[in-house]
Amino acid sequence: MNDIFNGAKPLGFGLMRLPLTNPNDGGSIDFELTKKMVDMYMERGFTYFDTALMYCNGKSEAAVKEVLSSRYPRESYTLATKLHAGFIQTEEDRDIRFYKQLSDTGVDYFDYYLVHDVNAHSIEVYDKLHVWDWVQQKKAEGKMKHIGFSFHDTPELLEKVITEHPEMEFVQIQLNYLDYENPGVQSRACYEVCRKYDMPIIIMEPVKGGTLVNVGPEITKMYKDYHPDLSVASWAIRFAASHENVKMVLSGMSNLEQLDDNTGYMEHFQPITEEENALITKAVAILNGQITVPCTGCEYCVDGCPMNIAIPKYFALYNNDVREVAEGKDWNPNGEYYENLTKTFGKASECVECGQCEEMCPQHLPIIEHLKAVAKQFEN
Ligand code: SF4
Ligand code: SF4
Repeated sequence: MNDIFNGAKPLGFGLMRLPLTNPNDGGSIDFELTKKMVDMYMERGFTYFDTALMYCNGKSEAAVKEVLSSRYPRESYTLATKLHAGFIQTEEDRDIRFYKQLSDTGVDYFDYYLVHDVNAHSIEVYDKLHVWDWVQQKKAEGKMKHIGFSFHDTPELLEKVITEHPEMEFVQIQLNYLDYENPGVQSRACYEVCRKYDMPIIIMEPVKGGTLVNVGPEITKMYKDYHPDLSVASWAIRFAASHENVKMVLSGMSNLEQLDDNTGYMEHFQPITEEENALITKAVAILNGQITVPCTGCEYCVDGCPMNIAIPKYFALYNNDVREVAEGKDWNPNGEYYENLTKTFGKASECVECGQCEEMCPQHLPIIEHLKAVAKQFEN
């Protein structure tokens, strides 16, 4: 198979967690800082940008025009975006959404276009609205250069989609060292399906929404003793990129320091060695004993919540709190952060159990139950 990524450096700039001017408003993108990040990324020879309709409260695609397409020649970068089942009810909606995406991002074609978040529910929409035929048609028209899909479900369904849709040129899966053997996510098994069919692979969630950055003192010390100059995040990104046929690892970078760090070790990427892998295996064992709610912070659950509950923010605080209490800290600010957030967002205890969020969650988390635990932890 031709390399549809043209040998691009394998670190993609995920435009999902851009820097914000107001931390409680996911759409308040800090354009000036984002421009600096884009400039550093491009100067260092990286080229792949990844956005989607729902990122940054629906503002990420328009940010592409502001920070990238209006400032750089079209051939100097590649751009990926996606169509999500939640945004289309009719066949006409496919084109309506697509042409708005072109106009919002300020380009006249996408280099990579993905059928977004294929799973047992969304695939019914994609089949019913003939999205698979539609992307092929758009590719024939030159509006999409390459077509693929992102996936959050079982290896069995992944194999079915790959075999039923040989027109798909690449697949995007969640893979990180913590989810590798996780029975809920099954990263390794999904990766092996991709290898079986020689599918070029893009990796999402390599640091599991920050979980593999804030790994606690024991793992941080272990990594730093081995590689004093490498960041904790580098272990996770390099782990993902070390897999054969992985063409791109997406990182949702939120500040210049992260971008500087990631591009530093990915500019001349060195795969994980056996010795390093043994340390990662130890880290997984430690982490599995620490994480209470395996939320990746993707925010797919947030938009439709009738009570405006800041689900991933609360889970992140809850995970920190549980871990820090177990570490024996006398005091931590998690409860205070929680209280502050509830001035803007609904409280965990205000969940009306409508279930909308659980339908959207690619990690299949029992969000309603977890919110009850959050309420118990922070509202008493
Ligand atoms: S179940 Fe609760 S948290 Fe989920 S969308 Fe409904 S009200 Fe919001
Ligand atoms: S609860 Fe699920 S959908 Fe919501 S942010 Fe976490 S992983 Fe994403």
